[in-house]
Amino acid sequence: MGKKILIVGGVAGGASCAARIRRLDESADIIMFEKGEYISFANCGLPYYIGDMIKDREDLIIQTPQKFRDRFNVDVRTNSEVTSIDTAGKTVTVRTKESTYKERFDTLVLSPGTTPIRPPLPGIDSPIVFTLRNIPDTDRIRAYVDKKLARRAVVIGGGFIGLEMAENLRHRGLEITLVEMLDQVFTPADKEMASILHQHLTMNGVRLILGDGVKEIIPTGDACAEVVLNSSKRIPTELIILSIGVKPDTEFVKNSGIAMSDRGTIIVDGHMRTDKPDVYAVGDAVEVVDFVSGKKVHVPLAGPANRQGRIAADNIAGIDTVYKNTQGTAICKIFDLTIAVTGINEKNAKRWEIPFLKSYTHGSSHASYYPGSFPLSIKILFDPKSGKLLGTQIIGKEGVDKRIDIFATALRHGLTVYDLAELELAYAPPYGSAKDPVNIAGFVAQNILEGRMPVFYAEDVASIDHATQQILDVRSTVEHKQGAIDNSLCIPIDELRARLNELNIEKEILVYCQVGLRGYLATRILAQHGFHVKNLSGGYKTFFDSRRNV
Ligand code: FAD
Repeated sequence: MGKKILIVGGVAGGASCAARIRRLDESADIIMFEKGEYISFANCGLPYYIGDMIKDREDLIIQTPQKFRDRFNVDVRTNSEVTSIDTAGKTVTVRTKESTYKERFDTLVLSPGTTPIRPPLPGIDSPIVFTLRNIPDTDRIRAYVDKKLARRAVVIGGGFIGLEMAENLRHRGLEITLVEMLDQVFTPADKEMASILHQHLTMNGVRLILGDGVKEIIPTGDACAEVVLNSSKRIPTELIILSIGVKPDTEFVKNSGIAMSDRGTIIVDGHMRTDKPDVYAVGDAVEVVDFVSGKKVHVPLAGPANRQGRIAADNIAGIDTVYKNTQGTAICKIFDLTIAVTGINEKNAKRWEIPFLKSYTHGSSHASYYPGSFPLSIKILFDPKSGKLLGTQIIGKEGVDKRIDIFATALRHGLTVYDLAELELAYAPPYGSAKDPVNIAGFVAQNILEGRMPVFYAEDVASIDHATQQILDVRSTVEHKQGAIDNSLCIPIDELRARLNELNIEKEILVYCQVGLRGYLATRILAQHGFHVKNLSGGYKTFFDSRRNV
C-alpha cells in the first residue's frame, strides 16, 4: 500500500484531485469523504433542472460513488463529514450517522467548497425560503414547483445563481420578483453593461427591484409570506430563493491551526499547499491571487476548482506544478442574452488604483447581411502605456462565448490591443465577420492609444461645458429625432464636409453617432480640418445603456 491520501469534499475540486492522483499513482490509498449523499454532481446544471431545461435528473449525476470506486479505486465515503483536523497528529475526525471515528493521513486535501450565506433576518427560517447548493436542495425546489405550490417567487440576490434561478423559474411559469441590494445585477460586470441585462430581465417578465435590501420575511399563511424590503415595500410570495452569495464551508478547519483569511478562505501557495505540511486545499474554499492586479481575492468558480484539484494531485504525486492565479473568466445566460467577463472591471481598476483606458464597441455577432446577426457589446480595459489587455466584458445574443474565450486567452498570455487587431480568426458569414468584433475592439483601442481617436465617455456628458464645448450628432436626422443627447447639433456624417462652417473652431467638438463608427469618421475629418475633437466611446447606444432606469 502506498501513501494514504484523504480528500475532503467529493465534487469539483475533490473528485478531480482524487481521479488525477489515481491516474498518476496506482499504489496510493485514497479515501474521499463527502458529507452529502452525492459526489461529482453538476452543480452548474442545478438551476436548469429546476427550470426543466435538463429533463432527466440522472444527467446531473456525473459519477456515482460506486462508479467512482470501480473506475478509480477510491474509497468513497458519502454521508461522512470531516469535523476536525489534527495537523500535528495527522488525523481527521469523521462523523457519520452511526459513529464518529478518526482516520490517519499522510496527505490531506481540502475541497469543501462554499455554502450559501443566510443572514439572520427575521423570518429567514420560513419553510418557503430555499437556497441552492446541491442535489437535495434542487429536489426540494423542483418538487415545490412541480406540485404547483407557488405561483409567485421572490429571488433575493442578482448574482449568477439568482439570475439563473429567475430565468428558470420564469420558464416554469412563475411570476418573479428579483430583489438586489446594489444598483446592478451581475457585479463582475460594470453597471452600464449590466443595465442591458436590467432591461432584458424586465422585458422577460421579471420584476426587478434594485437598490433595496430585504428587511424581514413575514409569514402570511401556511405556505406564503411577505418579503419586506428596507424601503418598506412588501412583496407577497409563495417561494423565496435566497441567493445573496456564498461563504467558504470551512468551519471545521478553524481550530486546526491551518492559516485562513478573515473571510474564512484557506490560504494556499501556488502549489495549493496550506501552511501545514502535507495539507493541500483547492476550489471555492481557498483564497486566490487575482491574475491582473495581484490582489488576494475569493473567486468561486468551477474551472479554477477543477484545475486546482489537478494541480494539487500533480504536486502530491511529485510533479512540480504551479497554479498561475485566477482571472475570473465567467459567463451567464439570462433568457436570450449572454454576459461574460474576464480580467478586471472598471470598478476594481479604480478601487485598486490600476491605471487603465477603456473602449466600448458594438460589432455584429456575424456578418450583418447573413440572417440572425445581433450586436455584441464589448467593453475592454487596457494599459494606457503598453496597451496590454486588463479586462473584458461582453453582452450579446450569440457568439459571446467564443469571443470571451479569445479575450481570456489573450489576457492570460499578456497580449495587447495591438495583438487583438492582428488576430487571424475564423470567418464565414454565419459565424463572424472578416473584421471580427475582437479585431474591431483592438482597432478602436489602438486608435485611442495612438491619439488618432481621442474619446470621451457617457459619464462625461453630464459635465459638458457648452461655452467651450459643442456636442455634435453625426447620425441621420431620423435617428437624431428618435433620441439624442440634449443640446446636440445634428449634422449627418455625409453632409459634414459641406457644413463645417456651422461649427465653432474655438470650441472642442464632442462627436457621437449610434455605436462609435461614424463618430470615428467624423473625428478624422474634423481633426484634419484643425478642430479639437473627441468621439463618444460606444456611441449613443452606450450612453443610452448607461442611463437606463429599470
Ligand atoms: P464543491 O463542488 O461545492 O464541493 C464541495 C463538497 O464538499 C460539497 O459537496 C460538500 O458537501 C463537501 N463538504 C464540505 N465540507 C465537508 C466536510 N467537512 N466533510 C465532508 N464533505 C464536505 N461555477 C461556474 O464556473 N459556472 C457555473 O455556471 C456555475 N454554476 C453554479 C450553479 C450553482 C447552483 C452552484 C451551487 C454553483 C455553481 N458554480 C458555477 C460554482 C461551482 O459549482 C463551484 O465553483 C465548484 O463546484 C467548486 O468546487 P469545490 O470542489 O470547491 O466545491
